[in-house]
Amino acid sequence: MEFNDDADLDTSQVNDLRGSGGGGGGGFGGGGLGGIPIPMGGGKGGIIITVIILAVVLCGGGGLFGSGLLGGGGGDNKADNANIDKSCDKSNKDRFKNADCRNVLYINSVQAYWKTEMPAAFGKQYTQAKTNFFSNQVNTGCGAADSGVGPFYCPADSMVYIDLTFYNELNSRFGASGEFAAPYVLAHEYGHHIQNLLGTNAKAEQGGQQGANSGSVRLELQADCYAGTWANHATETKDPQGDALFKSITQQDIDEAIQTAEAIGDDTIQKKAGQKVNPDGFTHGTSAQRKKWFTQGFSTGDPRQCDTFSTNSL
Ligand SMILES: [Zn+2]
Repeated sequence: MEFNDDADLDTSQVNDLRGSGGGGGGGFGGGGLGGIPIPMGGGKGGIIITVIILAVVLCGGGGLFGSGLLGGGGGDNKADNANIDKSCDKSNKDRFKNADCRNVLYINSVQAYWKTEMPAAFGKQYTQAKTNFFSNQVNTGCGAADSGVGPFYCPADSMVYIDLTFYNELNSRFGASGEFAAPYVLAHEYGHHIQNLLGTNAKAEQGGQQGANSGSVRLELQADCYAGTWANHATETKDPQGDALFKSITQQDIDEAIQTAEAIGDDTIQKKAGQKVNPDGFTHGTSAQRKKWFTQGFSTGDPRQCDTFSTNSL
């Protein structure tokens, strides 16, 4: 992929919370994870963190991701975008070497896409959602959360939360190494925002939180499909001045997104954790299903072709 050096980045679409020390805390290490501490680093701890990510990676939507959140919370997060504003300004020729700025561009692109596509496909206006960059822990409308849960969308405050070091985790633990893993992850989370705006979450909750055909799996596969429709249209997305955000996206980029989707399938993660594949524990869909639905979105470019709720063959 190539970025457009002329593009203006809208840093107001993110909150940089990384200087705030994680806010007021509360509930850290507590109930949501069954009191299991989250050891960082390798060895046995690596397995535990993998299992935790198993449950909640790329998760979000309704009450379906409770296992990833720690409860408590309530403190205010203080955003300070001064660093991002400066480093992502067009005057900085090296801005796209900075992961912060690349992620801002991905978020700008995904939201520019839905601003046009949501009314066209679903007859509803798109409402912007901010992404919060945090480190270690963060307070959200869904409770306090820890970096170990992976990126997520909180329907209660309509915001995305990500610790950008998660991408290293994707690489080292799941073998998803390409840069295009990042926009795939963000586009997936914004897929949950679309579902929230459309009221799809309620439908998902009726379908249960676990199991091969559960509402959770259908919701997650639809978010993968929405990520695919964005990828199809990404090079058409523009900044407010009408300059394209991307110069190009290649087949290799798309392959990296698919590779990432496959790497975090429930069956693959269960196997990696040394478990037997157990469909009753599925929350996000198998590797094959995640690949299938991202590809369905990418090849059609039409979010109306992402109806994972009506189909009998996920
Ligand atoms: Zn998800």
